[in-house]
Amino acid sequence: MCVDLVNGKTNVYGIIGNPVEKSFSPVLQNTIAKELGKSAAYVPFKVERGQVKTAVEGARALGIKGFNVTVPHKIEVMDALCAIDPVAKRIGAVNTLKLTEKGYEGYNTDIIGLKKCFEERNISIEGKTVVLAGAGGAANSAAMLAGEEKAAKLVIVNRTAEKAEALAERVRKYYPIEVEVTDYDSITDIADPEIFVQTTSVGMGNDVDGTPVKKTEFFDNVKIVVDIIYTPWETRLMKDAAARGAVTVNGFDMLFYQGLASFEIWHDMKVDRETAKELKEKLTAFYRRG
Ligand code: NAP
Repeated sequence: MCVDLVNGKTNVYGIIGNPVEKSFSPVLQNTIAKELGKSAAYVPFKVERGQVKTAVEGARALGIKGFNVTVPHKIEVMDALCAIDPVAKRIGAVNTLKLTEKGYEGYNTDIIGLKKCFEERNISIEGKTVVLAGAGGAANSAAMLAGEEKAAKLVIVNRTAEKAEALAERVRKYYPIEVEVTDYDSITDIADPEIFVQTTSVGMGNDVDGTPVKKTEFFDNVKIVVDIIYTPWETRLMKDAAARGAVTVNGFDMLFYQGLASFEIWHDMKVDRETAKELKEKLTAFYRRG
């Protein structure tokens, strides 16, 4: 347990999901709180589908200050909130709840976590072509980030074309950027694919040889690859991209920075860049030790 002392003044936070047993968020949040001197305790809550509203109402009565929300509740929880941040509405999912007098407000910090992967490396998305692999839950944040950051073009590549088209249509509805859909066989036809974000589950866990991009020459013109998977630490796709000269970043950065952004929302504060990097290094070492 990272919290030194839980006392009568300790604020409680948590994560709602199912499953939550393997979530890294309790370690992440309790470490950040301890390092930054906050009396806060963060615990996992396994909540069944259909029970999210009841859980949120109970949490409000208990005065629980904030939550992270993970799979499969990021959409269901939206019905239990008093207000939702406009960007979270566009993404269509909430992963952070903050207690206010009127109830819980909802935010999406996955998009902030992903944005930080670029900011930390001084890479601007504005005016660039962003290629996005996947059109599932996580892809929504990446697609809206391209819109928020004024990419010149977003190209969505997905196994199921209908899902890619549906996501493309939602991005066009909110942002005046060019959006195209293509398939993995045609990926090498994309002009100037400077930024690539991998959001599929291919290559995750034991699927160490799996990659959605078989035509590795695609990476010749890619400057940065963010693969949002962090187990394994370096996916096959990241290895292929690095061998072709791209900078590669795994999903731990996104995980860390989405958690830090939630913490900042709860505590109404900004953590400076150096402190954030130190916290990330500490938590990376902890995570990699297993
Ligand atoms: P999801 O909604 O189930 O979407 C999965 C995506 O993977 C879909 O686009 C799906 O394509 C694609 N896919 C699955 N199997 C495929 C295959 N064999 N070939 C090609 N495409 C395939 O999942 P999600 O919630 O978006 O999560 C995706 C990944 O992101 C997971 O690995 C998750 O752990 C990770 N993630 C990381 C973070 C972080 O903070 N780092 C945050 C959220 C999620 P179809 O549409 O064709 O089915």
